[in-house]
Amino acid sequence: MVPGLLTRSDVETSPRSFAEMTTLRVGGSPAVALSCHSAEAVAEVVGALDQEDVPLLVVGGGSNLVVGDDVSGLVAVVLDGSDRGGDDGGQVEIDRDTGVVRAFAGVVWDDLVAATVAAGLGGLECLSGIPGSVGATPVQNVGAYGAEVSQTLHRVQLFDRPTATTSWVSPESLDLAYRYSNLKFTSRAVVTAVEFQLSTDGLSAPLRFGELARRLGVAADDAGQGGDVRRPVAEVRDMVLELRRGKGMVLDADDHDTWSAGSFFTNPVVEGTVADEVQRTVTSTRGAQDAAAMPRFAGGDGREKLSAAWLIERAGFARGWHVPGNDRAGLSSKHTLALTNRGSATSADIVELARAVRDGVRDAFGVDLVPEPVWIGVTLDGE
Ligand SMILES: Cc1cc2nc3c(=O)[nH]c(=O)nc-3n(C[C@H](O)[C@H](O)[C@H](O)COP(=O)(O)OP(=O)(O)OC[C@H]3O[C@@H](n4cnc5c(N)ncnc54)[C@H](O)[C@@H]3O)c2cc1C
Repeated sequence: MVPGLLTRSDVETSPRSFAEMTTLRVGGSPAVALSCHSAEAVAEVVGALDQEDVPLLVVGGGSNLVVGDDVSGLVAVVLDGSDRGGDDGGQVEIDRDTGVVRAFAGVVWDDLVAATVAAGLGGLECLSGIPGSVGATPVQNVGAYGAEVSQTLHRVQLFDRPTATTSWVSPESLDLAYRYSNLKFTSRAVVTAVEFQLSTDGLSAPLRFGELARRLGVAADDAGQGGDVRRPVAEVRDMVLELRRGKGMVLDADDHDTWSAGSFFTNPVVEGTVADEVQRTVTSTRGAQDAAAMPRFAGGDGREKLSAAWLIERAGFARGWHVPGNDRAGLSSKHTLALTNRGSATSADIVELARAVRDGVRDAFGVDLVPEPVWIGVTLDGE
């Protein structure tokens, strides 16, 4: 390990395995885990490790990671925004008048959302309850209930690893798209802080998600793409949290349905001809009525986005399904898109389950599901 790093008061070691640092609760121990409590600490630690060519993994809340059982050659650099008794001033700054909000990347995402909602600022409320850290949100452009973080990002502070320099960049420079930015899978830079521009009139962003709008009493015709119905931010946050809890999408240590990495596969974006073929297959196997209900959304560039959860179910994987003979890992009992650790799973068990689901959907519909989490020290094909 690089000497000198632990002389900073805002860096400490934590003897933790990835099973303790990730929400899937699988993965072996790194060489060491270094918790960094400020943007400056992150830059110094990552810069020093890079200079010595020490392999490292930046970790926030560990909620989008599948980590292998043998990763002892890695240093985990943990961005930790937890409150350490008032000596970490400046981790979150909220300007109620302008709606500009700035946070250290290690701050827990939902704590930030709650603080902005309490301040009456609008724009993040649909992203309530997403686990993880502020800094990871631009990395995969997190989204839920009709919103994406790209809609409110103002600036992102990056520590650029090849040049060891820190600067603010515009969201446009990150190529943000559905669950993607040019930071994901590259490790080229570490997000050290994020600035958001929120609305100041106490109302949510326009409601774009049918189920959420309906539950808030908004008529179907007034919601959805192009609709402009807005509601008080706190009302929307409460409803989003209620909907998420019903699907096991809010972390709860006592509920194994939430020992997951969230949605395990992204919704596949395919050519219209492929979507037609899938619908024909469903018609012949499950009947015209089921096929007519197949979700198909605009996927950009003339392509269509299908629902991964719907395909998984139609391929024969019910909620709670597990590989025969291995119930250490299984689909959530609330949602087929969440692959879960039932208590004693290893990463090999998660991989076996993921492979079975991916292969089953491919065999049934010819559609390749792509995992959403980042894989470290293990691959879906076990190479
Ligand atoms: C129950 C549950 C529900 C979920 N629901 C949603 C949802 O509704 N929508 C959604 O989009 N996602 C969802 N997720 C996925 C996950 O919560 C998000 O992707 C989240 O942003 C990951 O944050 P994290 O801090 O945990 O990242 P980690 O898992 O710690 O890291 C993920 C990747 O990002 C990199 N990374 C982390 N922080 C930084 C940084 N500061 N700079 C550079 N790289 C970094 C890591 O190196 C790693 O490659 C869910 C997950 C769970 C477990």
